[in-house]
Amino acid sequence: MHRHRAFVLAILLVHLLLACSAAADPFEYSWQQVAPDVWAGIRQDPFELPQEGNSVFVVTSEGVVVFDAGGSPRMGASIVAKVRSVTDKPITHVVISHWHGDHMRGLQSIVDAYPHVAIYAHPCARDFIASSQEAWLKRRVAMVPNIRVALDAALKNELDLQGRPLTAQERTWLTNGRGVLDQLDDENHRTAFVVPNVTFTDRLVLHLGGRELQFIHPGNAHTAGDVVLWLPQEKVLATGDIVTAPIPLMPSPYTDSYPAVLETLKALQFRTLVPGHGAVQHDVAYVDLLIDTFRTIAAQTKSLIATGASKEDVLRKLDYSNIEPRFTHGDPFLTKRFHDYVTTALGAATYAVETHAGIQEHF
Ligand SMILES: [Zn+2]
Repeated sequence: MHRHRAFVLAILLVHLLLACSAAADPFEYSWQQVAPDVWAGIRQDPFELPQEGNSVFVVTSEGVVVFDAGGSPRMGASIVAKVRSVTDKPITHVVISHWHGDHMRGLQSIVDAYPHVAIYAHPCARDFIASSQEAWLKRRVAMVPNIRVALDAALKNELDLQGRPLTAQERTWLTNGRGVLDQLDDENHRTAFVVPNVTFTDRLVLHLGGRELQFIHPGNAHTAGDVVLWLPQEKVLATGDIVTAPIPLMPSPYTDSYPAVLETLKALQFRTLVPGHGAVQHDVAYVDLLIDTFRTIAAQTKSLIATGASKEDVLRKLDYSNIEPRFTHGDPFLTKRFHDYVTTALGAATYAVETHAGIQEHF
């Protein structure tokens, strides 16, 4: 329990450490048009606090379809503002990629602006949103105060929660991250959960104004209710957190089915991939790297378990040396993040799957 709390605090601190200093408004996307009438809202620095999922919207003559709503009311409002700046059509549909708050806590602003909008999600995602609401309402009270305490201690001691010395780059981010805490606290306190009102299991296809929009559940990867947006004419794919860049930011318990899901996405032959966090991709290189990562770690874990190694031994002996540099390219900042997100979580998740220890999703 204690270790779990320390881990959660460590992750919160990591987010703070990585908070970007450059953005004038911490609740804004950088918008880019990825195909005619298809807009992607990208958090240019995926580590920026508040950590918000990317968003995509498609303008049709019959209305606007939004894929993912941002993680706070202000992010939802920034999506509405961008839509209104490019069209007078209303938002008619929102589809949520998965249940995590950084992709759906902006829904309330979209519903405020367009009260008749339909909100779609996979049934598992809808269930998680409905059932996690109470825990979130309790957790949000202490969230920012806890971050503030951890942050102050780190700055005072010049050490992060894992005892590693802060680099100058991290110190700057941490200091700037402190600057958004009051705003983050305000957003947390005014957030109301919006539970999706339509569900679909495998596939939803919208035909609107001559455009075809497919929403596909490709299997369990980041969560049990993952949905991607696929535009077959434009060959644009938005993956939610199944793909996050420049390193896999989000732990997943579904390490066994994950590579097959990535193969399914690759088979679509996309021209443009909008990840759940991070920069737009234009080829399959990063997806291939993710597939290789899951397969390499699973193979190593299997053979270590076969030798009778304990969990601790397995986690200690897993060798990331052929993988890590392909993500980090030796960048010291990304190397630390790789250790925070990948070596900490992926080995443990893979071990749990390979020993049939049971799969559980966390915030
Ligand atoms: Zn997520």
